[in-house]
Amino acid sequence: MEYKDLEIWFVTGAQLLYGGDAVIKVDAHSTEMVRGLNDSGILPIRVVYKGTANSSAEISAVMRDANGDAKCAGMITWMHTFSPAKMWIQGLMNYGKPLLHLHTQYNREIPWDEIDMDFMNLNQSAHGDREFGHITSRLRKPRKVVVGYWNDRETQGKIASWMRVCAGWADSRNMLVVRFGDNMNNVAVTDGDKVEAEIRLGYHVDNAPIATLVPYVEAVTEAEIDALVDEYELLYDFADDCAKGAEKHCFVRDAAAQEIALRRFLRDKGAKAFTTSFNELEGMKQLMGFASQRLMAEGYGFGAEGDWKTAALVRTMWVMGRGLPGGQSFLEDYTLNFDGKNSTILQSHMLEINPDITGAKPRVEVHFLGIGDARTCARLVFQAHEGKGVAATIVDMGNRFRMIANEVEVVAPKPLPKLPVACALWKPLPDFAAGAGAWILAGGTHHSSFSFSVTMEMLEDYAEIAGIELLAIDGNTTLGNFKFEMKVNEVYYMLNKALQ
Ligand code: MN
Repeated sequence: MEYKDLEIWFVTGAQLLYGGDAVIKVDAHSTEMVRGLNDSGILPIRVVYKGTANSSAEISAVMRDANGDAKCAGMITWMHTFSPAKMWIQGLMNYGKPLLHLHTQYNREIPWDEIDMDFMNLNQSAHGDREFGHITSRLRKPRKVVVGYWNDRETQGKIASWMRVCAGWADSRNMLVVRFGDNMNNVAVTDGDKVEAEIRLGYHVDNAPIATLVPYVEAVTEAEIDALVDEYELLYDFADDCAKGAEKHCFVRDAAAQEIALRRFLRDKGAKAFTTSFNELEGMKQLMGFASQRLMAEGYGFGAEGDWKTAALVRTMWVMGRGLPGGQSFLEDYTLNFDGKNSTILQSHMLEINPDITGAKPRVEVHFLGIGDARTCARLVFQAHEGKGVAATIVDMGNRFRMIANEVEVVAPKPLPKLPVACALWKPLPDFAAGAGAWILAGGTHHSSFSFSVTMEMLEDYAEIAGIELLAIDGNTTLGNFKFEMKVNEVYYMLNKALQ
């Protein structure tokens, strides 16, 4: 299990109409089902059975406990018997964590020869879950509904996917993003309302003058740098001019000192994500690109040029994808390659790409970078492996946050002998024209958080929990429908805001 410090609570709805014996059976079935879920080996978070809820008071109590329990990242509810849903009103109204309504039943098939009225009085999920669904909808309560037999892998896979979102949500509710330098001057799309972001998404964004990081770099010892460079030599190839003993090796050592300093600084602050600025580097020897690559691989969120929203989303998607293969990274739409139906977008940045997205051994290179005060910078150079993934961003539309997500197919780029950066090359779905067109119509950033392991369904669940807009661009997107969806959303969110 990937998230050992978290729990998902399982609450079974029932009632006392059919007597105490029925509740005892409900309890035994629920215990067996929760054990089955935990033993499946599929779920990344442990399910904790919290018993049957048979009255409004019991439901309110377990919901209150869930809200107050730091380990509880969400709740699964299931109605074994008919649980009259007025009993759920107070509890659901006060419940403030992710909710999954599992529509399943204890028995897989109807026991045709055995079934009688006693069986029917006990096994009522088919109608009990509809009663619960009604009150959840009546209360406009965000939730995920998973339909399927509890012991099927497909059902368990859907629960597992939602659990990852719960972990990402729990993590983002308490997320400090440190910014070294402000948002890049005059850039619109990466900026936004930080107060609303803290209310809605939990991001707390603090400024850290670069001068406060400089003493951390100066405090790093030569022995610490030696040890880290040894680690680099195990993990990466080196260009001839920056290997040990070569003229540019000193820049690799400076980058190692930055990595150690930045990690210590972020730990001291309790930060989970950070941004840098190539215009605010007074006292630093180079832009912290290499350090950013290394720290992203450890799970720190990163955004360039003060892009705190992308930094936070990179962190959240890392948490969601923890332990899954494929990797994820901050990326930027770099340059276009027109080739009819095979047109692609080269994804890169000046330096800061997570080496987790490559299957090859990255190469350490040192080159001069002319922008701002970046100077001569070490960096890991590689090309991303092929595969399907999703790129996402969050933009501030003035009255709401909008998440835009695009399924993409990463393909092999050609060698780039004169562009010494890490990169990926992708085709947005459904195709280059509609994918890029929809992203631009939606007002999406040039920066994105990309993942090979996070799915569109996870992002949908995240947007549902956060109460933010999601515009999904996938294989079924047509620009006509997409524009219509945006118009409908405009009205929906305007009215929604007015009703709050
Ligand atoms: Mn950028």
